[in-house]
Amino acid sequence: MSRRVYMDHAATTYVNKDVLEAMLPFYTELFGNPSSVHQFGREVKKHIDKAREQVAKAIGALPEEIYFTAGGSEADNWAIKGIAYANRNKGNHIITTQIEHPGLLESCRFLEKEGFEITYLPVDQFGMISVGDVENAITEKTVLISVMYANNEIGTVQPIQEVAKLAKDKKIVFHTDAVQAVGSIDINVKEQGIDLLSLSAHKFYGPKGVGALYVRKGVKLTNLIHGGHQERSRRAGTENVAGIIGLGKAIELAASRLEENSKRIKGLSDKLITGVMEKVPYTRLNGHPDNRLPGNTSFCFEFIEGESLLLNLDIKGIAGSSGSACSSGSLDPSHVLLAIGLPHEIAHGSLRLSLGDINTEEDVDYVLEVLPPIVDRLRQMSPLFEKVKGGK
Ligand SMILES: *Cc1c(COP(=O)(O)O)cnc(C)c1O
Repeated sequence: MSRRVYMDHAATTYVNKDVLEAMLPFYTELFGNPSSVHQFGREVKKHIDKAREQVAKAIGALPEEIYFTAGGSEADNWAIKGIAYANRNKGNHIITTQIEHPGLLESCRFLEKEGFEITYLPVDQFGMISVGDVENAITEKTVLISVMYANNEIGTVQPIQEVAKLAKDKKIVFHTDAVQAVGSIDINVKEQGIDLLSLSAHKFYGPKGVGALYVRKGVKLTNLIHGGHQERSRRAGTENVAGIIGLGKAIELAASRLEENSKRIKGLSDKLITGVMEKVPYTRLNGHPDNRLPGNTSFCFEFIEGESLLLNLDIKGIAGSSGSACSSGSLDPSHVLLAIGLPHEIAHGSLRLSLGDINTEEDVDYVLEVLPPIVDRLRQMSPLFEKVKGGK
């Protein structure tokens, strides 16, 4: 079989073998409902408590500050809507950024229809917000500031600690969508002053459909999912037990290997970035040159369509993405690439290759061998490129 190279870890990861092994008993012998009083239930409850401790420990929180959800999107929805509704009598203004994940942006748009006012802060050419902009946007009505930890498309890591400090000084709740950061960047919510944080297991070698929202003790949050008394009466629904066990194991594993793994993956990404920039003319690197996720590479190749590039790479066994999995299928260029100031025609030529555990030096060499001739061939078909060549 020909070579297959998966470089779409920002869209999702496989489940680590040890994680899967930890989960399996919870589909068979350990099947009790954790809310039941009998032994079957109590036994499972103990394991859920342990998973909660694992998640708490990995981000420097207390176990009672962790609430399990059905993933990152739910955690984002809950954080935004929950804080907005809980503070309705205080104010109706929320500050966020233009480059958030749809789970967060669409929650804000929903709230706008409910009478809330949202400030969507711009970012610079590298995808960085300015802390001064955050400060200037604060009004007496501001009840929440939400800034993503690291961007899923271009990898830029934000000055989270400074924004959190500013929010604290002004007594405003601070949330961060850390779905891309958890597992790659060392996070400590207490040291960094974070009030709420979203995370999702399938971005760090855990199962899909499970995540968590960290809510600092004392922060008031309205419930999103009403019903039973699960999650200390704050999030109803029988627990996704195996998923929660998998989340706990995955985050523990990720934390134990974080430094070593991130260093190795960053080395591969750097090699890929240097190689692509050297071998392919008319190319830009998207995102911040230094403050970026270890596994993220994101490029714009002028004069080509990202979609054609993806298809051609796929034929060669290379799995990448043109921006984000969540917005593919639509022909609009990514809101993130537009926010960093790229014109439409350039934003269309984007490619994200996100590296992870399974990638090797050989994978990078293979991409560097296959990608440049594909870009070259696609450009030969572009009338715009003809003009540029002709003009030289
Ligand atoms: C993947 C992702 C989400 C959504 O998480 P799901 O578990 O897939 O719902 C939210 N925010 C960011 C930054 C992401 O990368």
